[in-house]
Amino acid sequence: NQALPYFEKFFQHFPTIHHLAKANEDEILTLWSGLGYYNRARNLLKTAKQIVEKFNGQFPENISTALQLPGIGPYTASAILSLAFKQAHPVVDGNVLRVIARLFAIEHDIRQQTTKKVIQNKVRALIPPQKADLFNESLMEFGALICKPKAPHCLQCPLQKHCQSFLNNKVELIPYKSPAARKKKIFQLVFVVRYKNRVLIAQRKTKGLLAKMWEFPIYEDNELTLAKMNVQQILKKYFTDSWQMYSRALPPLKHNYSHITLQYQPLLVHSKKPFRPKLSQYLQIEWLPLEAIEQKALHKAHQKILKQEEFKRWWADLNN
Ligand code: SF4
Repeated sequence: NQALPYFEKFFQHFPTIHHLAKANEDEILTLWSGLGYYNRARNLLKTAKQIVEKFNGQFPENISTALQLPGIGPYTASAILSLAFKQAHPVVDGNVLRVIARLFAIEHDIRQQTTKKVIQNKVRALIPPQKADLFNESLMEFGALICKPKAPHCLQCPLQKHCQSFLNNKVELIPYKSPAARKKKIFQLVFVVRYKNRVLIAQRKTKGLLAKMWEFPIYEDNELTLAKMNVQQILKKYFTDSWQMYSRALPPLKHNYSHITLQYQPLLVHSKKPFRPKLSQYLQIEWLPLEAIEQKALHKAHQKILKQEEFKRWWADLNN
């Protein structure tokens, strides 16, 4: 599981909510970097601070109060209150949506809020008093292990004789999920600029996508592809004439965000001196040894560059 090492590292740093509430955003983002969904990290910090300041370090047991905490929506609030305090709130994740839609042969689009509401109410009506935690957990597990998206184990399923989809031969058709909206495409050039054993990295502004995360400087133009870009000209504009040579392009990469597909072309560049480029889109810019980048919250798309074999060879060659 990709998240587990992050979870363990996080708990080592912040064993209690009081430790977490004292942290700053940069610390949190550094520990989280590579995991994506950075707003979750920011909200976790804001919520920890609020819980310590307003609720004496205890998570509020009232659902409407819980819903006012940053990053806590209906799913998370219900999950916490049900699993930690055994309250009878329906916890409806993707697994539960599928199981209930099949069980009751609900044919409406499960992307729609109205369908989700119908399913939520069905679950609410099924929760046995005093056992909300076990019930909610079991339903999610049941979806993950038995009533799976593809090839569900209907023949071994204990709910088979109650399942309206099974009885009406509609298991293949339910749930219906409309196609996802098309993602916006963004194309970027990424300049990995080095001076001796240092590399140039920059911190993004405080608002917008990947706010306050660190990255190699980028140039963005959605109309262009690498073939159509005048890379030399862009380099000159960005970095004045301090770059020594446009060394080479690494293989292009792709990274998916929830609403965006990012295609990016890393370019390896040497610099004659550790100049300060005028990149007004950034909060700050630093020249750092490669090892020190680990102490910065470098976002996942750019961590992928460091893992490219061509990058490793390029870096090692010049160190020899
Ligand atoms: Fe799911 Fe099949 Fe069981 Fe119905 S019978 S709940 S579709 S596993």
